[in-house]
Amino acid sequence: MHLMHASWGIHPRPGKDTTAGLATRRAPIPERLVIPLSQHTGVPCKPLVKPKQEVVRGEMIGDVDALITAPVHASIAGTVEKIEPRPHSSGAFSPSVVLTPRDSPLPAATAVRSIDVGLALPPDEIRSIARSAGIVGMGGAGFPTHVKLSPPPPKKVEVCVLNGAECEPFLTADHRIMLERSAEVLDGMRLIMHALGAASGIIGVEDNKLDAAHAMAAAVERAGERAIRVQIVHTRYPQGAEKTLIQTLTGREVPSGGLPADVGVLVSNVGTAAAVRDAVCDGTPLIERVVTVAGGAVGKPANLLALVGTPIRVLLDECGWMPGRTQRVILGGPLMGAAIHDLDIPVTKTTSGILALTNDELHASAEYPCIGCGRCVQACPMHLVPSTLAKLCKLGREAKAKDAGLLDCFECGSCAYGCPAKIPLVHWLRVGKASLRRNKAA
Ligand code: SF4
Ligand code: SF4
Repeated sequence: MHLMHASWGIHPRPGKDTTAGLATRRAPIPERLVIPLSQHTGVPCKPLVKPKQEVVRGEMIGDVDALITAPVHASIAGTVEKIEPRPHSSGAFSPSVVLTPRDSPLPAATAVRSIDVGLALPPDEIRSIARSAGIVGMGGAGFPTHVKLSPPPPKKVEVCVLNGAECEPFLTADHRIMLERSAEVLDGMRLIMHALGAASGIIGVEDNKLDAAHAMAAAVERAGERAIRVQIVHTRYPQGAEKTLIQTLTGREVPSGGLPADVGVLVSNVGTAAAVRDAVCDGTPLIERVVTVAGGAVGKPANLLALVGTPIRVLLDECGWMPGRTQRVILGGPLMGAAIHDLDIPVTKTTSGILALTNDELHASAEYPCIGCGRCVQACPMHLVPSTLAKLCKLGREAKAKDAGLLDCFECGSCAYGCPAKIPLVHWLRVGKASLRRNKAA
């Protein structure tokens, strides 16, 4: 397990110590669940159920005939109350199935096949199971896994990278999954490699989670898996971004506008790998996930296993939320996450964390003119010049910003984090990209 070094990025205050040592526990079951029909990149699902219909846990309640989509399932047995637009983490309203739960306690999963039987399935069947189970990238992107497992010919994935970096401050859900479900994570990775015909696998873990790296290495050894190794990488944000992790672990550079498959690599989050294993071996769709609840305005931070559809408010209340101290509630990490104003927004397949942050934690301060210090350039993992890009976007010259690489920016926030002038660089980059999208649509 070697340490790999990189020269870009930032070192934000980790904030992980309050939850890293806390075992995952089951979140309360809410009185009502709101399950959005769009929790993924791609075409939103259409409902397969009607009001007053009884559903069982794991039943498919939404799907659509489209290439890039992922079905959604009932996370608990209950009665469909209504189907209507509800506030969503995207900031918009999304058609959602409102469900009144019936089951408590939740039934345990029952094995449908062993991992050895799973690894003997044809690759197409693993892709089909991943689709039926509604599995999407759980690290935040929500890209449907069955599509990722089908790179268009002649592209061929040789290396499967498992992303255990979890570089965003505060978040420890992936850390706990690697510690508590190392065998399942590894089995999921083996299934993914089998589906792709990938020859080798690398599990990348930051050096602030050595216990997780050792747990994964022990699982690899127990399984006698020679094609997979664990590699420790320096703790540095945004180490866990797809393109940066590929470069750190394999030395391969994904071309501008390209995909990991262009350089023969697939990256999967550790939670996603465990979900693939659960679908293949237990027949369980993606209906729950681990969520870190933390921040200075939370009295009892925790890692909670929450049902998809649980309102954010329920998890905050479970963790001793202090509304009076809260400056902002963020879904995801503080750097790439999104601020929300409606606490009835539900947990989805991609909700890795809920942070209730105080004023001190947000470092709120006034904006000053750029002093040309170059810190943003040093921090950018994509080797962009964020100060210039932001200036162009602010002036409405987004076409010029595009020529300078605007579309390579994946909004990691490293540039804005260290800016002494407190310029909201990412805001302007997003404005520029939105304008490009509008122009293209027009
Ligand atoms: S320009 Fe984009 S990719 Fe580069 S540091 Fe800023 S947010 Fe991250
Ligand atoms: S870090 Fe801020 S002040 Fe320094 S060059 Fe970039 S935008 Fe300007």
